[in-house]
Amino acid sequence: MTGELEQLGHYIGGQRVAGASGRSAPVFNPALGVATTQVALASAHETRSVIAAARAALPEWSDTPALRRARVLFRFRDLIDKNSEEIAGILTREHGKVLADARGEVTRGLEIVEFACGIPQLLKGEYSDAVGRGIDSWSLRQPVGVCAGITPFNFPAMVPMWMFPIAIACGNTFILKPSEKDPGCPLRLAELLTEAGAPPGVLNVLNGDREAVDTLLTDPGVNAISFVGSTPVAEHVFRTGSNHGKRVQALGGAKNHMVVMPDADPAGAAHALAGAAYGSAGERCMAISVAVAVGDAGDRLVEALKTELAAIRVLPGTAEDADMGPLVTREHLDRVLGYVATGVQEGAKLVVDGRKMTVAGHERGFFMGPVLFDEVTPSMRIYREEIFGPVLVIVRVPDLDGALELVNGHEYGNGTAIFTRDGGAAREFCRRVNAGMVGVNVPIPVPMAFHSFGGWKRSLFGPLHMHGPDGVRFYTRLKTVTARWPTGSKGAEFTMPTMK
Ligand code: NAD
Repeated sequence: MTGELEQLGHYIGGQRVAGASGRSAPVFNPALGVATTQVALASAHETRSVIAAARAALPEWSDTPALRRARVLFRFRDLIDKNSEEIAGILTREHGKVLADARGEVTRGLEIVEFACGIPQLLKGEYSDAVGRGIDSWSLRQPVGVCAGITPFNFPAMVPMWMFPIAIACGNTFILKPSEKDPGCPLRLAELLTEAGAPPGVLNVLNGDREAVDTLLTDPGVNAISFVGSTPVAEHVFRTGSNHGKRVQALGGAKNHMVVMPDADPAGAAHALAGAAYGSAGERCMAISVAVAVGDAGDRLVEALKTELAAIRVLPGTAEDADMGPLVTREHLDRVLGYVATGVQEGAKLVVDGRKMTVAGHERGFFMGPVLFDEVTPSMRIYREEIFGPVLVIVRVPDLDGALELVNGHEYGNGTAIFTRDGGAAREFCRRVNAGMVGVNVPIPVPMAFHSFGGWKRSLFGPLHMHGPDGVRFYTRLKTVTARWPTGSKGAEFTMPTMK
């Protein structure tokens, strides 16, 4: 069976290259529950050859004026737009998310490309005239070098596009190591960038697993690492990459809380929660997985949520009326089902049990329905740990202080939201909450391309967030020049120069 499957290799030096390690992994269509392609897993040797290709392309690309680099991105933007249905189709086939959501993901990625098209403006430096007599000083941003991006399965088009468009716009070359669960979109994006005019080696896609990642983290030919994935791996990437002298930004997992104040409209809050908790089967780092019901909001919220959950249509992502598709793999489905069993054992109240569900004609697909737990406490594993599936837990607290204490006490701090009609409560929440992205009556506050994306606490390792202004900071090194054109030498100076 495996021998008959299409083999996906790598994209190196401007072309598709077959894997040579002899190792590969199956890529599933989760709605059917069968492997449809086989992806190569790179060896350390292959990884080093990609690093060499990216290094070889670096001098010419980093010397190309930013305006010309931007023109490649303008053409790339148009090609993504023209091919967006094909990219969304690959995404739904390999990931399982519904087609409308896949289209949205492609658009959010495209918006980063649009941001990167403005790179000549973004790279403008600072200039100080006459910092001393006859002396001027200016700061400029230069490329970091060869950058690598390691990305998760849940946004196979958007998360790579958080990284490489800005990195290459800044004059770097890039190696993308996408998730081995859905490698189709990254390979297609690399082809489109070549079609847009990027020289060979500027963007390379290396498929693989830990062997490839650990080589990227330790090889001296790589200068910067961007990572998005689970927290244990993010921590490993951050420590190993930093120990090897690289600049690293590593975004990790999440447990996003949405606080529902007693004055919030229960139907509106439940509607927002349904989309935020169960959209993309909960496989989003910004999914809401904890609803914090304040005061007497809990009972009304549970009733409204029951109505919402009963209406969620779980179908293959290609069905036009689907709200939620399957989970990415059988293994991940089993893990999420395991958490539901744990919640029951821990004594949480299972209000909606979506465990036993099959989709007609797709009996082998990795489907489950929405799950809702009430009366969850902070000591339970289903509260503490990231489940990354269609499971929402409700924790009840007496007041806003209690809600803040809960959110701030959690190890993750990616996104959070408050639903209320009280501007004072919302302001207090925004100021005091320990999270990187905050929504007010917006359940999933994902920053737009021209702002930066990132969490706090164990949701992000490293000082800089991703894309937007922080993206430009991450992918450039600051250089400050102080210059004098002397008309006559005054001899050596042995003291710190100051302005008097
Ligand atoms: P993952 O950590 O399993 O994998 C992410 C990447 O790391 C993949 O490319 C994978 O091949 C590689 N990898 C996995 N194990 C490794 C290891 N031991 N050593 C080196 N590399 C390894 O994550 P996933 O399951 O693909 O994605 C889901 C996770 O990503 C969730 O925790 C989710 O919250 C997180 N995520 C976070 C954000 C964010 O912005 N903070 C965004 C999307 C996803």
